This record gives sequence, structure tokens and C-alpha cells, in this order.
Amino acid sequence: MRIIFLGPPGAGKGTQAKLICKKYNLPQISPGDILRQAAKNNTPLGRRAQSFMDQGLLVPDDVILGIIYERIKQADCEAGFILDGFPRTIAQADALEDMLLKMNSEIDFVLSLELSEVELVKRLSGRRVCDTCGEEFHIKFKPSHTPGICDRCGEHLIQRSDASEEAVKKRFVEYREKTSPLVYYYERQNKLHPISGDGTIQQIFTRIQRVLRAG
Ligand code: AMP
Repeated sequence: MRIIFLGPPGAGKGTQAKLICKKYNLPQISPGDILRQAAKNNTPLGRRAQSFMDQGLLVPDDVILGIIYERIKQADCEAGFILDGFPRTIAQADALEDMLLKMNSEIDFVLSLELSEVELVKRLSGRRVCDTCGEEFHIKFKPSHTPGICDRCGEHLIQRSDASEEAVKKRFVEYREKTSPLVYYYERQNKLHPISGDGTIQQIFTRIQRVLRAG
């Protein structure tokens, strides 16, 4: 099963992608996570991506496509994968189609998480992430047991460096201009499944499972 997660920043793509991975035993491929890890390790890739990410801008396609290509040809992706945060431009979607075609495969489901911008801003501002192990929390929707402390490793929680008001605004503009056209792109291919992003993490996950079971 090959799944793409579409949706604006803050819609909960990462959270839902993790739940699907666990349930269906599929690897989650998130360029955002890969780039943040590279930035933390101060690799050349990380240094190149960091300034784009901090400003809320998309990282250039050549960087992202390289990451995806290397990842999806690995053995654990043979039975499928979940793309969380890719593709984010029409050019990336075209490139993905080419890559998969060469591997004799294609995308099965495109799940499009939908939520109002007011709700998205609320969600983004409440996000916290562990600086050490990367576990994600939300002060309202998924609080840690002790405020500011990671449940998994006991280290401190921080806001992502692209959570500043300026960067968040820019991420929305990037989404509207470059990523939202993908909704029509996949609608035309009859692969799009709109999912309401309203409600609890479990309610949204139930909606997604219904779609995957029906498909
Ligand atoms: P995310 O964790 O998916 O919200 O991604 C965080 C940041 O990583 C984005 O704001 C971009 O700067 C960069 N990024 C992640 N995925 C992509 C992509 N497919 N294309 C370009 N930039 C990306």
C-alpha cells in the first residue's frame, strides 16, 4: 500500500502517518523529519536545508527528490510506504510518478487532511517536540504527563524552529501557492480521499482506516 498524505501545515499529517505505519507495518517517509535530523547532525544536507526551513520556505526540489529516491528504493519500501510531507509541488509529484513507474508501481491512496486556517494556527502554536528524541506533543491535544518534559526520554520539550509567527505565515503561503494544486492533480487521477481533520486524533484515524479498508 503506497500512501500520500496531503494537507496544510498543522493538519496532523505526521501524527496520523505514524498511526498508520504502526497499524499497517509500513515505513513513514517524511522529508521534514529527515532534514531536521540532518540539521541537528550538522551535515552538509542539513546546513543547506536549515535556512529554508527556518524561514518556512520549501527546500529546493533537487534536494528533496534525492532524499526520496534514495529512500523508496530501499527493501523495506517494497510492500509500500507512507509519504508524509511529500510531494509538495507539482514538479515533485511528476518526479514521483516517474520514479514509481520505473519500479512498476504507483500510488494507491492520497489522503487529504482538511481543516480551517483558524484551527490550523491553534494546532501549530501548541505543538512541542522533544529536542533529544523527536517525540511530538501538543499542549492541548496530546499533552506530556509533566508539562515541558518528554514522556519517552525525560528531556526538555521545545517549539520547532519554524514555529515562529513569521515562518508559520510563510508556510501557509507556500502551501496555498505550491502544494494545494496537488489536490486537483490527484483528484483527476481518482486517487484523492478528502478526510476531515476535525476532532480527536482517534476520530481522524478511524476515518482514515475506513478509507483504506474500502479501497
Ligand atoms: P514538515 O515537517 O513536513 O512540516 O516540513 C518542514 C519543512 O521541511 C518545510 O517547511 C520545508 O522547509 C521542508 N520540507 C519538507 N518536505 C518538503 C518537500 N516535499 N519539499 C520542499 N521542502 C520540504
